[in-house]
Amino acid sequence: MTTNGDIDSILQRGAEGGRITPDEALLLYTQAPLHALGEAADTVRRRWHPEGIVTYIIDRNINYTNVCVTACRFCAFYRAPKHHEGWSHGMDEILRRCAEAVELGATQVMLQGGHHPEYGVEYYESLFSGVKAAFPQLVIHSIGPSEIMHMAKVSDVSIDEAIARIKAAGLDSIAGAGAEMLPARPRKALAPLKESGERWLEVMAAAHAQGIDSTATMMMGTGETATERIEHLRMIRDVQDLAVSRGFVPVAVSEKGAAIGGFRSFIPWTYQPENNHLKGRTQATSLEYLRLIAVARLFFDNVAHLQASWLTTGKDVGQLALHMGVDDLGSIMLEENVISSAGARHRSNLHELISMIRTADRIPAQRDTWYAHLAVHRTPADDPTDERVVSHFSSIALPGGGAGTRINLPLVDVN
Ligand code: SF4
Repeated sequence: MTTNGDIDSILQRGAEGGRITPDEALLLYTQAPLHALGEAADTVRRRWHPEGIVTYIIDRNINYTNVCVTACRFCAFYRAPKHHEGWSHGMDEILRRCAEAVELGATQVMLQGGHHPEYGVEYYESLFSGVKAAFPQLVIHSIGPSEIMHMAKVSDVSIDEAIARIKAAGLDSIAGAGAEMLPARPRKALAPLKESGERWLEVMAAAHAQGIDSTATMMMGTGETATERIEHLRMIRDVQDLAVSRGFVPVAVSEKGAAIGGFRSFIPWTYQPENNHLKGRTQATSLEYLRLIAVARLFFDNVAHLQASWLTTGKDVGQLALHMGVDDLGSIMLEENVISSAGARHRSNLHELISMIRTADRIPAQRDTWYAHLAVHRTPADDPTDERVVSHFSSIALPGGGAGTRINLPLVDVN
């Protein structure tokens, strides 16, 4: 029989930096009192990030195609090959969107798209090298293991060769996209044509071994069990252990451009139920999300950063997460079409993000992809002042999910 004393002693061990087992994490997730759970997670956050800084990044998600052969059941963004709503963007349009992002202060682009049946390694080489040539200052934090497996198959090369070639072409960092739920049962239900969770992690480990680090994500709320949620965390922690054993040491804040290696951060987000084949399924509640956030901070003794997904949970829950172990609010997302297509309608701008952080009694700071601080806003006098940048609201699903050309970002009227 579990007692309150058992829960207290696990919380204390986790708060002090000791490792907790998956069974203990499940116990905390399902039974620990919320305040005690949040307090323990916040203690861990303070140890990783003692200055009390909470970061954000300015970036744009640019979609190169919505054509996809993988037909994930939760996805509202893709169109099957030959579907009349399928589209792909040429390099000119992608560069135009990059230029707009740079204009608004972006330091990173996330190039994201479907598994187009004709897009092999050569396509991605030309995509990344084209963006790097035009905008060497932009960090390319893009694609995920699923795209790497797809391009390797189309080009009939090994995973290692695909990774080496896209790295040489300019890919700086791999996004944690496509993790969804890693355990087999929920993954098969969500994305029957996608690779297994184990394969997803193997490709991440292969990229880490070649010096490309990444993030890790989790989509919660499609009917998976509490045990499966904790199993997802375990699978990621084991691969991060591998990265650490190879000498990639996670650190709280890196020097600019320093390779931390492995998974830099963990980013859980909540499934959005519109316009897809899973419509009607239960969504994760705010409480489930906050509890998961806190357990993740306690469980990941080897991952430096934890990001809240205000885009899917809303800003109030995003701010609350700052008291449950979170140290990063991600991006204002100058453009986002994939999750927005499934119903995420929360919008924000830099004014709001900075205010959310400051009113949570934290110090806001703009970061780069590797969490190096670019500007720390210790007082309101340190806040960014370029009105076009600070007042620009994140976009919600551009027309056609980003289709068409010359669709300008809906810039605010600053007058
Ligand atoms: S989630 Fe990605 S791989 Fe799955 S259908 Fe959508 S675009 Fe394709």
